[in-house]
Amino acid sequence: MKKRSIGFRLSGWYFLVFACGLGLFSVAAWFAMRASVYHAIDDELRDRVRGVVKFMEQQISSLSVAEIRDEFREHSVLGPGGDLFQVCDQRGQWLYRSVPLENGNVPIALPDSLRAPRFQDLQIDRHKLRFYSERIGVNGHPYTVQVGALMNEANEALGRFRWMLLLAAPVLLIAASAGGYWLSSRALAPVDEISQAAQRISIENLTDRLHVPQTGDELQRLTETLNAMLSRLEAAVSRMKQFTADASHELRAPVSLIRTTAEVAAQKKDRPAEEYLEALQEILEESERTSQLVDSLMLLARADSGKEMLECEPVDARVVMRGAVEQGEKLVRNRDLSFSADLPPAAIPIRADAEALRRALLILIDNAAKYTPQGGSVTVRLAARNGCAVASVADTGFGIAKEDAAHIFDRFWRADKARSREQGGAGLGLSIAKWIVQMHGGSIEVESEIGKGSVFFNRRWTSIRPFEARWSKSPRPRRGLISRARPICPGQTSLDK
Ligand code: ADP
Repeated sequence: MKKRSIGFRLSGWYFLVFACGLGLFSVAAWFAMRASVYHAIDDELRDRVRGVVKFMEQQISSLSVAEIRDEFREHSVLGPGGDLFQVCDQRGQWLYRSVPLENGNVPIALPDSLRAPRFQDLQIDRHKLRFYSERIGVNGHPYTVQVGALMNEANEALGRFRWMLLLAAPVLLIAASAGGYWLSSRALAPVDEISQAAQRISIENLTDRLHVPQTGDELQRLTETLNAMLSRLEAAVSRMKQFTADASHELRAPVSLIRTTAEVAAQKKDRPAEEYLEALQEILEESERTSQLVDSLMLLARADSGKEMLECEPVDARVVMRGAVEQGEKLVRNRDLSFSADLPPAAIPIRADAEALRRALLILIDNAAKYTPQGGSVTVRLAARNGCAVASVADTGFGIAKEDAAHIFDRFWRADKARSREQGGAGLGLSIAKWIVQMHGGSIEVESEIGKGSVFFNRRWTSIRPFEARWSKSPRPRRGLISRARPICPGQTSLDK
């Protein structure tokens, strides 16, 4: 028997509840039986007293005491238990006393001391007897009539009933508990099978699924829920594996480039100073790119673990946008592209993390600059629409194919890997922008046409708070990954600053 198993515990509780129920039932049954037996005997005793009264009322005036006694004797011998019967008058003189009662010297109460009818249980010579005494009045004279019944048979029947209960209860209890244990074990056996099957599933075989019993009950729902959980785990683990593989791949490229550049520079001595400077420049560019990548990776990892929290406060969306425009314009103009920003004259109060939003906008402006050929243009707009601040970054660049548009927000995804890498992109910018916008309760979307350009905009950003809301005139500087990381522009390195 498995201790601690649900089946065992259920049977234990079942045993306890059934034992209490059976015990209560047995006690109640015994008392009910006893009450019913006594009730029947008491009724019979009362009837016999009624008979005596009737007889005395009819005969006492016409018969002498001796004749009455003879009549009583005659009739009492005929009736059931009739020889247990005595009658006395007010002075205690016996009108009649049956032999057994005389021999047993059964006491009787005088009529004057007997205020109400009375039942008594007495033991006479190993016999249990029940007596009923009643005060009666015949022709104006009070008498006490006492009739008795032998209780031996009734007590034996009650004793037999008690034994039956005492013997049957444990047998019933054991049988019911064993049945309960068997039933619960049978009902819970599939749970054991499910747990064994679940134990066999590890990270190596996350594609395995539990067998779903088509029973339509809790077990089916349990296995379906576990299978759904396994599917989610499988997807999460595969995303994690993919992320790790992509991250190591992305990190390996700049590290080996730095190493090769340094090795080449170190191989030949007596190089002109410009060559060393060029090598150092290259190493710095790659280091900047690598640290940028590591920052982005850390930001996403912290976002995944819920540790990277945004600090939202009332701000003017225009102030945030202006911050992004200031930095973004340089990136755009460096690439010989025209830039325009369309900001509304009135303030747009929003509740947001200004640093994070500025970063998201800068990612979009940086992308617009990266994926737009020379001579193109980038336009940034901000407007208040339907109670929301709506920002958009449009370019006249290469555009994004329809089938690619579904993936551009995935981590490490790049439509044109060669072009993106050349521009310094690792495919993480839009994932970060998407996370930031989502954290503000909005969603980021794109409309694009190959060869014509793209527009990135937010569907909902954040509800505009009542105009009286106070907001910071300029974003609060904050420390952390969001403020540290920034999109880089090829050619712009620490050396250029
Ligand atoms: P990356 O660092 O490669 O730019 P992102 O996550 O920012 O990574 O962008 C993912 C991919 O989406 C890019 O590699 C590019 O192919 C595509 N993309 C993003 N913005 C634009 C744009 N404005 N025009 C065309 N393609 C874009």
